[in-house]
Amino acid sequence: HAKKKGCNTICFFEPLLQRRFEERLELQEDLRDAIDKEQLELFYQKQMRVNEQAECMGAEALLRWKHPARGFISPLEFIPLAEEGGYIHLLGEWVLKHALQKLQKWQKDPQKSHWRLSINISAKEFEREDFISNVQKNFNQTPCPPHRLCIELTEGILIQDPEKSIQKILALASMGILFSIDDFGTGYSSLQYLKKLPIQELKIDRCFIQNILEDEQDQILVDTMIGIGKKFNLNVVAEGVETQEQLKKLQSMGCELFQGFLFSKPSPVLSAE
Ligand code: C2E
Ligand code: MG
Ligand code: MG
Ligand code: MG
Repeated sequence: HAKKKGCNTICFFEPLLQRRFEERLELQEDLRDAIDKEQLELFYQKQMRVNEQAECMGAEALLRWKHPARGFISPLEFIPLAEEGGYIHLLGEWVLKHALQKLQKWQKDPQKSHWRLSINISAKEFEREDFISNVQKNFNQTPCPPHRLCIELTEGILIQDPEKSIQKILALASMGILFSIDDFGTGYSSLQYLKKLPIQELKIDRCFIQNILEDEQDQILVDTMIGIGKKFNLNVVAEGVETQEQLKKLQSMGCELFQGFLFSKPSPVLSAE
């Protein structure tokens, strides 16, 4: 009887699962064409330094996919599709190319020539053999100062083949490129890399900031992360700052760099442009 029930359950859900699976494949195929069909767009979100005054220090580039039928699809949804489809590097190359073009544009504007631009690189892309040569190729095609580009990596890149990742980061850092650890504190890696890697920045994930006013444990974690950053002489950016009260709290903990809706939402043009 139990077996029969199990079978019924499977039969009941199967069409739904089947449909989900097909939709996923469909999206994955659509995404593969998104570059050629010019459906990708970079949005930019300001990164701020706030002491007595607030000044923009640059921006993070965030990828958007405008699907013809479904409208904007979140990168949280489509980045994994491109990773599974084995073509995340094509999206990554597109992002890098457009990021460097943006940096080149900023270079010509005295008010923005000191801004840096951060891009996100997924582990699957970073692991590729041709990653470094591709970065070099793009700098040749679109010359701009490497120390204005910041690559945001998550701790995940250090799990698969840490030695290889470290070698790559060292090589790119020797070109002048900056490195940031994104979603700091949410990964599974050890803190060993803080000693070994030429990184300039830690980004405290929004999940720690969200309830910072009420949650004492989040306060302890954030305070500790800021402390680690300071002791290692790193920039510490608090992500996802939405209210003045969160800002005040973070400032009282010694944080000076911020990103979040309080200052600007990701947008195709920065308000100062
Ligand atoms: P991330 O790199 O941690 O980016 C921060 C995310 O938080 C962005 O979501 C941003 O829009 C959102 N955010 C910023 N401030 C606030 C705030 O105050 N409140 C709230 N609720 N959200 C805020 P987005 O743009 O949807 O991107 C999600 C993730 O997708 C990124 O997380 C990043 O991991 C990935 N991603 C985005 N663009 C790219 C890309 O070009 N390449 C790769 N490989 N991944 C990307
Ligand atoms: Mg990021
Ligand atoms: Mg982040
Ligand atoms: Mg995040």
